[in-house]
Amino acid sequence: MSRSVLLLPGDGIGPEIVAEAEKVLNKVNEKFSLGLSFDTALVGGAAIDAEDTPLPADTLDKARKAEAILLGAVGGPKWDSLPMAKRPEKGLLGLRSSLELFANLRPAILYPQLASASSLKPEVVSGLDILIVRELTGGIYFGQPRGVRLLESGERQGYNTYQYTESEIRRIGRVAFEAAQQRGKKLCSVDKANVLEVTVLWREIMEELKGEYPDVELSHMYVDNAAMQLVKAPKQFDVIVTGNMFGDILSDEAAMLTGSIGMLPSASLNSEKQGMYEPCHGSAPDIAGQGIANPLATIISAAMMLRYSLNEDEAAEAIEAAVSKVLDQGLRTADIMSEGGKKVSTREMGEAVLSAL
Ligand code: NAD
Repeated sequence: MSRSVLLLPGDGIGPEIVAEAEKVLNKVNEKFSLGLSFDTALVGGAAIDAEDTPLPADTLDKARKAEAILLGAVGGPKWDSLPMAKRPEKGLLGLRSSLELFANLRPAILYPQLASASSLKPEVVSGLDILIVRELTGGIYFGQPRGVRLLESGERQGYNTYQYTESEIRRIGRVAFEAAQQRGKKLCSVDKANVLEVTVLWREIMEELKGEYPDVELSHMYVDNAAMQLVKAPKQFDVIVTGNMFGDILSDEAAMLTGSIGMLPSASLNSEKQGMYEPCHGSAPDIAGQGIANPLATIISAAMMLRYSLNEDEAAEAIEAAVSKVLDQGLRTADIMSEGGKKVSTREMGEAVLSAL
């Protein structure tokens, strides 16, 4: 596979924030001689407008060939009345399933400079740096059979199936152990092994994997306790690995500890480490076109891309340090603005990161 990166700006603020991330990527490409090449394609509403489909064949083809993908966001009111199968979000889901992106990585990082943005006390969250590794393509969200059936009693019953194969657990486990190796070397596997057999197996496989990663300290926690611990003492966690549904809930909870949606990146990886990187937020149609969106989540997503798909840790760290520096300088887009900060536009924030690099 070549070292090609596909940029998918998408809709709303997507093109504005991806443009800033692209400049940052170009800069580190040059500075660290990464040898990356960039291509751009349409997805979501922009693709619907141009080609009547949220995921054109050309986009999927380019995505398959790219080593990594950086996505802005998709969706907006313009396309909300379309039938489900033609909605912008289908472009995203199509990419996730076609590329088998089973591992969702969601860091919750609270830059000390933004500690007052959290709803928790600054001393509880300041310096928070958690990575949640969520299984994305299995578990109860996909298990069969599922549906709503009519019982003989005449009552309707809704049902879903919670299932994981050993290989599905093993592959997400490996991603999490490897991520822990690159960070603080602590992994907490979250399950409900006191009630659910699926997660008894989950715990067993995680224990089996432990032998392959002797430098990582593995612990286990029930999901209900994990939900409590995340708000009580979130800094005890380094990497958390869990199934699709628990991960869905816990990653949103962890994200909100930081209080600023414009700062949060995410990654979805497959077994070849090919990945799609995107900010956690959506297309923010309410502020699109105004030049005030925060580009930092997308810029930090680009750093994640360098670390996890392109093995360019040094370049990733340089971007993260540059982001920290602009925050130290007091530069703030409107969403993270606080007393004493200097309000900047999307472009000014991007330029400041470039200068800091
Ligand atoms: P949203 O995340 O787009 O916006 C929520 C709020 O946060 C808005 O007030 C917005 O202005 C603000 N916000 C978001 N990102 C920001 C940024 N970078 N800088 C400053 N402020 C920011 O969520 P929503 O309003 O529920 O959804 C809008 C559209 O985005 C919908 O069509 C939805 O389907 C889509 N969406 C897409 C994705 C994705 O592409 N991955 C994810 C979530 C929502």
